[in-house]
This record gives sequence, C-alpha cells and structure tokens, in this order.
Amino acid sequence: MIRLFLPPEQFVGDTASIRDSDHLHLTRVLRARPGDLVLLLDGLGNAFRAVLVSVEKRESSARIDEQVTMPAEPRIFVTVGQALGKGDKLEQVMQHGTEAGASAFVPIKAERSVADVPSAKVAERLVRWRQIVKGAAEQSGRSRIADVAAPLTLGELLGSYLEGPILLLHTQRPAASLRTALSQFEAAPERLLMLVGPEGGWSPAEVDMARTAGAVLVSLGPRILRTETAALVAISQIIYATEI
Ligand code: SAM
Repeated sequence: MIRLFLPPEQFVGDTASIRDSDHLHLTRVLRARPGDLVLLLDGLGNAFRAVLVSVEKRESSARIDEQVTMPAEPRIFVTVGQALGKGDKLEQVMQHGTEAGASAFVPIKAERSVADVPSAKVAERLVRWRQIVKGAAEQSGRSRIADVAAPLTLGELLGSYLEGPILLLHTQRPAASLRTALSQFEAAPERLLMLVGPEGGWSPAEVDMARTAGAVLVSLGPRILRTETAALVAISQIIYATEI
C-alpha cells in the first residue's frame, strides 16, 4: 500500500489533502488513481488507512477510513546528541539511526569537532536533515518523523534537556557498560539522551560538564568505534534492551 507522510494540518475531519511534492510523488512516480488505498501518516505517530477520492492537477484528496496502529515505533524515545564529524557522518547517523529506532537528533558543536555548520547554513541544513529523517521513516515503517534540532554546544544541550537520563558514550575508564547503565534505572526510562563524541573524542572539560549535569559515562566495550558506528551500536543496544 502507498505510504505518505503529510503535514498534520492537511488532515481535516475525515479528509486529507495531498499537495506539493507529495502530490507529484503520488501522481507522477506512484501513478496513483482514485480508488487506490493509501496509508497516511501525520509524522507525529498517527497513521490512517484511507482511499483516494480525487486526483486533480495540483492536489489530491483522500477519505480517511480508520486510524491504525503502527508496530515500528520503539517504546523508548531516544534523542541522539551527535558531535559534528567529517563528511556525511551526521547524515548517516540520522538516516540509519532513524531506521534503528532513534526519535530525535541534536548535532553538537563539540570542542574537538573538526566540522562546523556556519550559522548562515543552518536553515538550509535543517531542511536537508529533515528530508533525510523523513525518507528513513518512510523506508523503515516508522509512524513518527524524528525531530531534528539546530546544532548546539554540549553545554547548551545539557542545560536544555530535562526529559530523562543522559548517557555519554566514552572510550576511557571508568565507564559503565551500556547494559549496566540501563539496568541501574529503577524503571525503564521512557526517554533518554545519548551523547556521541567526535573523531577526537570528548574533551576532559566536556566530560566533567556532562558528569556535573548528571550524565552517566557509558562504554560500548574495549574496541574504539568510529563516531557514526558508535551511535548506531548504542541506539541498537538501547532499543534491544528496552524492547525484548
Ligand atoms: N580517541 C578518541 C577517544 O579516546 O575518545 C576516540 C573517539 S571515537 C572515534 C568517537 C566517539 O565515539 C567517542 O567520543 C565516543 O563517544 C564514541 N565511542 C567510540 N567507541 C566507543 C566505545 N568503545 N565505548 C564508548 N563510546 C565509544
């Protein structure tokens, strides 16, 4: 069945309007016709089975028949604070991290980040990053499109995150294993923030700042992983530990 994410405001009562690039994709690429069944998602976690009732030149509309439950949403809302890295590492983490079960991404301007996003480019990058997480959500059957924030320093992120425990991935000792860290919470957290350092690792000042903010230092084992690998391994382990 055709699956489409639409902006929430395009759902009105039992009708959904399909416009702009979604309409073009539906008509030109998918060659949809009135009567076709579609699965429409609002990106906030709601999914609806619907039938196309009209396909016009500029817009299509669908009648919503029922709301359905999507099985692919993880139980835990993982926010990944990913230090900016070289090339397309951040984009890889957003794409594959969404597939693996992460629900939000915050790029971090870490002290040792060799890459930066100049302020003049942030708006453009946000558009691109949001397209990446939307595509990954469509591909992997998620019903939520991950949140993507503009880059922050570690201090700014630690100061604004109040939703749950914070884990900082750290290659140096002492750091608990991820499994031990997760088992130390009294109840499985509904949300957590997981912080991944840049190629050169976190600076001692950043590690101290995170500790002071209550973050738990976590190891993924004795092998040093590339930053983008570490993010995906940690997301998978968190999802595994909280879903199985
Ligand atoms: N020389 C750096 C150091 O000593 O931290 C290596 C940094 S590593 C390439 C990039 C980031 O991935 C680290 O800052 C950490 O967040 C994460 N990472 C990589 N391997 C890890 C491991 N085995 N345990 C925990 N975190 C790891």
